Amino acid sequence: MAKGTINVSVENIFPLIKKFLYSDHEIFLRELISNATDATLKLKHLATIGETKVDYDNPQLEIKIDKESKKLHVIDHGVGMSKEEVGKYINEVAFSGAEEFLEKYKDSAKDSGIIGHFGLGFYSAFMVADKVEIITKSHVEEEGAVHWTCDGSPEFTLDKSDKKERGTEIILHIAEDSTEFLEEHRITELLLKYNKFMPVPIKFGTKEVNDPSHTPKTTKDKDGKETTEPQKKMTVDNIINNPSPAWTKQPSELKGEDYTAFYRELYPMQFEEPLFNIHLNVDYPFNLTGILYFPKLTTNLDVQKDRIQLYQNQVFVTDNVEGIVPEFLQMLRGVIDSPDIPLNVSRSYLQADGAVKKIASYITKKVGDKLQSLFKNDREGFEKKWNDIKIVIEYGMLSEPKFFEKAQKFALFPTVDDTYFTFEELKEKLKPIQTDKDKNLVLLYATNAKEQHSYIQDAKEKGYEVLLLDSPIVSHLIQKLEGENAELSDAKQPIKFARVDSDFIENLIKKDEEQISKLSDDEKTKLKEIVEGIVPKENYTVQLEALDSKSNPFVITIPEFMRRMKEMSATGGGGMMGMNNFPDMYNLVVNTNNDLMQKILKAKGKREEYVNQALDLAKLSQNLLQGEELTNFIKRSYELMK
Ligand code: ADP
Ligand code: MG
Repeated sequence: MAKGTINVSVENIFPLIKKFLYSDHEIFLRELISNATDATLKLKHLATIGETKVDYDNPQLEIKIDKESKKLHVIDHGVGMSKEEVGKYINEVAFSGAEEFLEKYKDSAKDSGIIGHFGLGFYSAFMVADKVEIITKSHVEEEGAVHWTCDGSPEFTLDKSDKKERGTEIILHIAEDSTEFLEEHRITELLLKYNKFMPVPIKFGTKEVNDPSHTPKTTKDKDGKETTEPQKKMTVDNIINNPSPAWTKQPSELKGEDYTAFYRELYPMQFEEPLFNIHLNVDYPFNLTGILYFPKLTTNLDVQKDRIQLYQNQVFVTDNVEGIVPEFLQMLRGVIDSPDIPLNVSRSYLQADGAVKKIASYITKKVGDKLQSLFKNDREGFEKKWNDIKIVIEYGMLSEPKFFEKAQKFALFPTVDDTYFTFEELKEKLKPIQTDKDKNLVLLYATNAKEQHSYIQDAKEKGYEVLLLDSPIVSHLIQKLEGENAELSDAKQPIKFARVDSDFIENLIKKDEEQISKLSDDEKTKLKEIVEGIVPKENYTVQLEALDSKSNPFVITIPEFMRRMKEMSATGGGGMMGMNNFPDMYNLVVNTNNDLMQKILKAKGKREEYVNQALDLAKLSQNLLQGEELTNFIKRSYELMK
């Protein structure tokens, strides 16, 4: 028996490993399975290039729990290790056999899928075990099997073993504080989390299935009653993983239903179908594969669960892709797999990393391309999906300048009547009708077709189009669109967005028409005094306007600027923090040409009732009449009918 000391620079690395390095003790299993997978893939590679005599007949890995003697086994039939190799790769902590292998077989092993360098590797076993054994036999026939043990101190023993078959068995003697890893459900959970898509089949226990060679017979007795014999069962290996998940295949090998099926595999608890997917596949200047899905997004975003999963060589790393996937695309689902993302670095370093930046902009570009081709090839279908994807697109337009540019081609602006325009089409169509006297193109929009109905109606009567822009970040987006289209030049016309209820319609799109008032200046002054004396000053600014005599007598408007700033500060940014604390201020537009004004001027006793009634009606159409005010309004309405 040989004894030795593990060659580490820090005198006692193990307690350190256990306590500080990883808070996530569970990753030990991922590390051991990664090594077992590597050992298997190495053998596969050596077999392909004819450097080993053994037959590579698709060996699988096995995980076994021995609850009684508190042991966990990880078994593979890969390359194994000779005595020298154990000495080199295991006893010298800083030495990676994976790295050496990749270096040696540089070109041919490029696509072998070998994982290597992953967290702390083999020694993470000591986070959960107080003793670890390795029993291993090299694929090189002449080499004898060896047995290595270590109890968590830097001393180890190295012995001969009578193991006959090639490969490695790692035995963990699970520590008292880690007995959870002797529970079948816990190990299943870990295998499904980290190893669900690893490239070598992983066996964990057995399961009963229907015997495919047996079809139960149905017999009829003399009364015609049917009986079916029981289905024969058989016991088979329980394979945990799918070694060739969809993202590792070529897009040409996959049909639509394969993508949907893989979505189910990824998110078994998701019942909604994804809207469409984007297959990522690039090997230069970085390596990245993956499939992203656009889920149906509702306004109550559940971004916490079912997020994009990050893999490296089919090993699950994390579902926190912050810094790698641009923020606006983190609302998507799916998988990305890249060995080129540095993992043991802080998030802020990650964001500064050149390769990672390229990855992020590649993903953005691919998503943009996909959206553009969907729009081009099936505009109708794209319009139908618009409501479910607009949040991602609008958010992307706000946060990524390149995406903003690209999105000009496919971002849609629906009207309240369900017609969809691109921004260019919109400008083209509305220029002749909605250009105001100062040459601005005014785009009218509503955020809620029901609540703003009467204002929409007013606009439509003038022949204007009203857009329906109802996503929560729309105020930011229109602010941006206005900014992009601000200067007056030959090519560009300044664009202004205005919500339909932000002013009375003649004022929203001012034309050069002269307004003739039916009231004299004296009457106007008097009317203003009367109205101001009745409506609450702290909420309303009274504004007299000579509108169409058929237009409503009173209109309540919320100035665009005020409202937009408020919304922007509520949804973040906009530099207007605290706007939410401002009292609600409205404009009360009084139509001097409506016949009711004569009544108000002349009436003595009923004057106050008329004004309040008209105010309440204006409130009603702005959805502002509630509670006691509503009750009073109803009472007063009955009174007035008498
Ligand atoms: P890495 O995987 O990054 O090389 P590890 O600490 O996980 O680092 O493993 C160190 C080395 O030990 C491996 O590179 C490999 O040479 C050897 N090794 C570990 N587990 C096995 C195994 N199951 N079969 C063969 N060799 C192994
Ligand atoms: Mg490893």
